[in-house]
Amino acid sequence: MWYRCHIGIHTDAADDRAEKGSAMQSVLALDIGGTKLATGVVTSDGSVHGFTAVPTRRDEGPDVIIPRLFELGRQSMRAAEQAGVSAPEGVGISCGGPLDAAAGVLVNPLHLPGWIDVPIVELAQREFELPAALENDATLAALAEHRHGAAVGERSMIYLTISTGIGGGAVLDDRLYRGAAGNGGEFGHITVVRGGRPCLCGRNGCLEAYASGTFIGVRADEAIASGRATSLTSPATAEQVARAAASGDALASEIWDETVELLGQAITDFVNIIEPDVVVLGGGVTRSGAQLLDPIRRIVLAGAMRPAAAAVRVELAALGDTVCVVGAGDLALDLLAVH
Ligand SMILES: [Zn+2]
Repeated sequence: MWYRCHIGIHTDAADDRAEKGSAMQSVLALDIGGTKLATGVVTSDGSVHGFTAVPTRRDEGPDVIIPRLFELGRQSMRAAEQAGVSAPEGVGISCGGPLDAAAGVLVNPLHLPGWIDVPIVELAQREFELPAALENDATLAALAEHRHGAAVGERSMIYLTISTGIGGGAVLDDRLYRGAAGNGGEFGHITVVRGGRPCLCGRNGCLEAYASGTFIGVRADEAIASGRATSLTSPATAEQVARAAASGDALASEIWDETVELLGQAITDFVNIIEPDVVVLGGGVTRSGAQLLDPIRRIVLAGAMRPAAAAVRVELAALGDTVCVVGAGDLALDLLAVH
């Protein structure tokens, strides 16, 4: 029920939560996505207050977008204050990589062209006069799903977000895995087709270059352009491909089946490598639900080595659109806990 608060639906539960929120430590969470900016005030129970999201309009560049992000954060703070939540004591920032989490710098995020070495932590500290921390968005989503979502109580989990791109994060033996510079767990950049499609990361044949929402659409567009009969029209989205496949369109079914096969085989690799208790799948493409989940489950359970297959569950994410805001909140709360 916690998610009711941030979408502004007033219920007794939300009011109770707001009262409890006033006694709990709170932090401001900022999520810089390629499609949308999202902010909220997060309390230590993982509740989000004053959740707000606007389009990123990434063509406008960091000089315009960062002030808009900070203003959005202030909007969330005002809404949370009105709901009786205590004032934030820190700031957590979520963004796609590559970034340098320890230095607090966005190195050159793949989804934000032109953002080179942006010292986002320093900028946020100056703006809000609070301690701030930065982490990879998919890493934070893994953290949030582990603490509050589909992987609560599990020792090891991997998380994949299948949306504009494919990101990933992991909790291994109850510890969030970060990697040397905070970009570990890039599960979307495993080679699934040798010498295949060019990927944004500079290599060829990555999983992301086939099975991300963007590339499901691109593959459909190419098939449409080749003149094959289909109910799809260009430019096609992943959602349209899923829907057309479900209603029996042969071309869409071919693209969808290839997508789930590539995802399923790659996830089987990850399951064999990590032997997690649970694989959590989030991101826009997972709105297709069972149409995506069921075949991936079948492929993983049939293909993974026996002990790994026996141990693992494959589940859809539980936290929805607020997942990176919740994770950024967890990050900032952890930062306060060590100071
Ligand atoms: Zn790649």
